[in-house]
Amino acid sequence: MKESVIKVEKIKIEKAAVLKEKPSLDGIPFGKYFSDHMFLMDYDEGRGWHDPRVVPFANFSLSPAAVVFHYAQEIFEGMKAYRSPKGEILLFRPLENARRLNSSAARMCIPEVPEDIFIDGLKALVELDSGWVPSLPDTSLYIRPFIIATSAQLGVHASASYIFAIITGPVGSYYPEGLNPVRIMIEESDVRAVRGGTGYAKCGGNYAASMRAGIRAEKQGYSQVLWLDGVTRRNIEEVGSMNVMFKINGKIVTPALTGSVLPGITRKSCIDLLKEWGYEVEEREFSVDELTKAAEDGTLEEAWGTGTAAVVSPIGEVAFKDVKHVIGGGKIGGLTQRLYDTLTGIQWGKIEDKFGWTVKVC
Ligand SMILES: *Cc1c(COP(=O)(O)O)cnc(C)c1O
Repeated sequence: MKESVIKVEKIKIEKAAVLKEKPSLDGIPFGKYFSDHMFLMDYDEGRGWHDPRVVPFANFSLSPAAVVFHYAQEIFEGMKAYRSPKGEILLFRPLENARRLNSSAARMCIPEVPEDIFIDGLKALVELDSGWVPSLPDTSLYIRPFIIATSAQLGVHASASYIFAIITGPVGSYYPEGLNPVRIMIEESDVRAVRGGTGYAKCGGNYAASMRAGIRAEKQGYSQVLWLDGVTRRNIEEVGSMNVMFKINGKIVTPALTGSVLPGITRKSCIDLLKEWGYEVEEREFSVDELTKAAEDGTLEEAWGTGTAAVVSPIGEVAFKDVKHVIGGGKIGGLTQRLYDTLTGIQWGKIEDKFGWTVKVC
């Protein structure tokens, strides 16, 4: 890998002269409002990462030939800051995001960001914009760290310069009407990722390739796509941008991390909680045949997706080749609800954090 900075430079802070008006969180659309500041750091070959800084939120100015625009050399992360009942601001397992960013970076030939700069930059930004961390129930500040390749060059080579940025924005409750199960459709033609590809990396290109199936599913009244593996087209991988878990005959089954599945931090946290509660968790190959058979013989008790945005999203129906399989009577299951309550309880600092997952910002 390319060199990164050896010493941790002090983060410079430039405050915005005028602060924005904060939007109402009632029915606020996801990802359209941004806080007053952003974190930036530059990378140049020969120099490494340099000039970590928090500055007013503003547009970038880039060459139209920047590598990111042509060859999608880009990676990102998704996380949240939560306000506890005591008014503290908490992050959830931020080091996991730093590590995953660097795992994505290695796959995409992007220089790794030192973990301490990731964490310090994140904290400096969230602390400065702490007024943007909302306090209404189930609301949070969404955080989007990302790296783009900025060299002006049309040749297909890894960029010699990069920007690492973190932007944030307030998000409302993901479930304003309560945890309603979603209907999902198994996608049979498009695939999201293949082994050896970029499925395990959080890179923009994976998302560009997944949009068509998402639009098709929506047109048919489904809210998410359930992805099958790209080789056999028999094994289940993920749901939309969430990992997926099934409760079958009292046991938990989730697709193994084979390289084409994104290693979710919510997934990992659910597995830890489930094991702590005494459940057997099988991370393995799980075929669509096994799923439909379990749905038909009544052993499929619950199904849910996991991810930072939704935390835990109950699945009430799966459609495959025009056959609809209702799960748990289309209602949220007890274990899905327990996972949701426990994880959100820990994230918002409302229940004891036995695992030491939360990190206080201020
Ligand atoms: C980010 C992401 C997830 C969920 O990861 P979390 O760390 O739990 O938020 C799952 N699948 C895909 C494709 C993702 O991009």
